[in-house]
Amino acid sequence: MVRCVWMLEWPVTRLVTLFVVLLIFVFGLVGCVHQESGASDARNSLTLNNGDAKDNITISGREDDMKILGLDIESTGHAGVKIKNRRVFYIDPFQLVEGGQGLEKADYILITHPHYDHCSIKDVEKIIQPETVIITVPDCQSKLSGLQVKEIMLISVGQTIDLGDEKVTAVPAYTVDKNTHPKENGWVGFILEMDGVRVYHAGDTDLIPEMQQIETDIALLPVGGTYTMSAKEAAQATAIFKKCKVAIPMHYGVIVGTASDAEDFKESATCDVKILR
Ligand SMILES: [Zn+2]
Repeated sequence: MVRCVWMLEWPVTRLVTLFVVLLIFVFGLVGCVHQESGASDARNSLTLNNGDAKDNITISGREDDMKILGLDIESTGHAGVKIKNRRVFYIDPFQLVEGGQGLEKADYILITHPHYDHCSIKDVEKIIQPETVIITVPDCQSKLSGLQVKEIMLISVGQTIDLGDEKVTAVPAYTVDKNTHPKENGWVGFILEMDGVRVYHAGDTDLIPEMQQIETDIALLPVGGTYTMSAKEAAQATAIFKKCKVAIPMHYGVIVGTASDAEDFKESATCDVKILR
């Protein structure tokens, strides 16, 4: 009798074991699939840590549709950038390429200094509309005077222009060991504040002591050398800022500098770096 019960029970135990093994296999498979989809999400939403748990930075989107700290930031080539929230800002547009849908018109155009690769009338003409406001230094005024825009606002180092939802502050930008951008010219970089995020566009500058006062979330820094900071000096700048969460290299790949300067900068910068394509 005992033997008979054992014979009946044995296959049941085996069946239960088989069922448990199957369950583990199925759940394992589901887990793998879920992990895979998580990895693909991670490719589209990259969280960078600034070394401070409170300062997590979210960069999301495709390379050509980049959101950094909630702002749309797009490189338009060289030192040019388009930054967008409800309004469209361009800084130093140069060699703009018109895509299939044409270029988005500017609400504001910020120009750091009169050199042809920063104050390019041909490019400004492509993006202005009657309501566009240009903010620039006095040295650019005569180049821009014939344009059909709402207003050309002049700004000097240390001055802030309140645009309502956004603020634009001019900060020093000059070269030290080259005579291409003398300090006395009063040419500038900008800090654009929008939606609680500060974006610093350094203009054409060397590593200068005033950078110790820079407090920004995003910093666009020249890395091409020759006329501006080199990649190494730009990386040193990130170490002396009061605050910077994400740095973006610019001013390379067109007139001076190469993609490897951007990579060198990424290697040595002390904050997170995003290279815009
Ligand atoms: Zn310049």
